[in-house]
Amino acid sequence: MERCLNFIDGAWVEPQSQKYAENINPATGESLGVVALSTAEDVDAAVQAAVKAQSTWRLVPAPQRAEVLYKVGALLKAKKEELARILTMEMGKVIEEARGEVQEAIDMAFYMAGEGRRLFGQTTPSELPNKMAMSVRAPIGVVGIITPWNFPIAIASWKSLPAIVAGNTVVWKPATETPFMAREFVKIYAEAGLPKGVINLVCGSGSVVGEAMVAHPDIQVISFTGSNDVGRSIASKAGSQLKRVSLEMGGKNAVVVMDDANLELAVDAILWGAYGTSGQRCTATSRVIVHRKVKEELEQRLLEKIETLTIGNGLDETVKVGPIINKSSLVKVHDYVEIGRSEGAKLLAGGTIVENPPLAGGSGAGNAKEASGHYYAPTVFTDAAIEMRIAQEEIFGPVVTIIPVDSFEEAIAANNSVRYGLSSSIFTQDVNRVFTAMRDLDTGIVYVNAGTTGAEIHLPFGGSKGTGNGHRDSGQAALDVFTEWKTVYVDYSGTLQRAQIDVEHQ
Ligand code: NAP
Ligand code: MG
Repeated sequence: MERCLNFIDGAWVEPQSQKYAENINPATGESLGVVALSTAEDVDAAVQAAVKAQSTWRLVPAPQRAEVLYKVGALLKAKKEELARILTMEMGKVIEEARGEVQEAIDMAFYMAGEGRRLFGQTTPSELPNKMAMSVRAPIGVVGIITPWNFPIAIASWKSLPAIVAGNTVVWKPATETPFMAREFVKIYAEAGLPKGVINLVCGSGSVVGEAMVAHPDIQVISFTGSNDVGRSIASKAGSQLKRVSLEMGGKNAVVVMDDANLELAVDAILWGAYGTSGQRCTATSRVIVHRKVKEELEQRLLEKIETLTIGNGLDETVKVGPIINKSSLVKVHDYVEIGRSEGAKLLAGGTIVENPPLAGGSGAGNAKEASGHYYAPTVFTDAAIEMRIAQEEIFGPVVTIIPVDSFEEAIAANNSVRYGLSSSIFTQDVNRVFTAMRDLDTGIVYVNAGTTGAEIHLPFGGSKGTGNGHRDSGQAALDVFTEWKTVYVDYSGTLQRAQIDVEHQ
């Protein structure tokens, strides 16, 4: 039986509770093994190991810390296919997307390894003679990382790699739905030669392990990606301790299609954005805001393409839409479809639970004769109004809501009418509208003539309004979460020089 244990101070250890939960393959309903259900004592052991390791890790020159990251990148690359298959079995996304996700972690490893020779601060002239001024990035200490199941390795890479290259140590709690990807990633860190205690893995539920991390006085930073409710509760608990918190939460992302858009391109983008990962991406296309002049044609083209999507086990290379993560998420998606119907939106496609999609061939799908996974048909609502719940709330499934508008201005207002601000997209050929949209769409990420997904790791990732709290993952911006600015003045005049006072002013 495969088990995901905790990794504390360089060793795989059982949880003190001796309790475990099943890790289920959402495509088949079969158990892949078990995951530790840890408690606050395990968190404390991990934090102690991290504190101890940080006292030496912070003194290792950053270019040497980066050498470990280069090895992590190389190992991820060598094991890409193996990791992608585990990812598909554990989380459900189709194998092509799983490979893409592992590639994101590879890219992030090499990018952050490069930071070992940058980690730039600033030097600037002092206002006084014989004095120098500079700022340097200092590590903060022990970083707590809490990640969701939908991008089990990419999001963990966005957070752990910058934290580690900057000289921090890590305690990581992965989602209970996807522990095996966490185990593989941690094994790679160890194989790459990361000293013991620099990364520690503590598996278990958010309400026990996550809360113990947030409450622990020796964890200085919490970097969280997940739902808004949990993010809000973490922020309020951490606030009273003056603990730094970086939050990446939900989205209600829209593709705007103007009357001059390349409709074929827009439809392909909607299809990929709405139904890729079965709509379970934080940047999934959940709304289409379309100019009334092209609405019918867009709907027709979209319906034709939906017909071509194969639903099933993501290990089958021909499958485009995999399962929903678990039963309760499936029920939630279907509940939203019922809500959409009762609100008066028109259901154009889908709206049903798919009981028995064809089983994928190939290994890893298990011995089940029939699929007992959780599948939902790609769904389209149209003629929705912006105030409807299906046009406002995150559904996290393969459901897209079309909202017709009569002008560019109305389209921008519709996009901005939700409480989230993660990603948005506009399809138009008009350069004036492009630049106006770049300015006025109020999301953290804006795509022009591309769908709502497709972030690259060397740019900041995150959202405004209810999606975040001002921080960003990945890119240079990630370093701001995991470092403290230290300003250093060196006076080599041998005299007491007072800033602002011993300065000649005109
Ligand atoms: P979730 O329920 O908030 O879980 C996220 C993580 O937080 C899991 O590891 C979970 O543990 C843990 N957690 C749960 N309760 C906690 C608590 N009280 N204290 C501390 N940690 C706690 O979110 P999810 O349903 O797994 O993920 C889907 C959500 O994530 C969606 O809203 C999606 O939009 C968002 N998301 C956002 C981004 C982004 O970058 N903006 C990216 C991906 C996903 P357990 O599940 O193991 O109990
Ligand atoms: Mg699972």
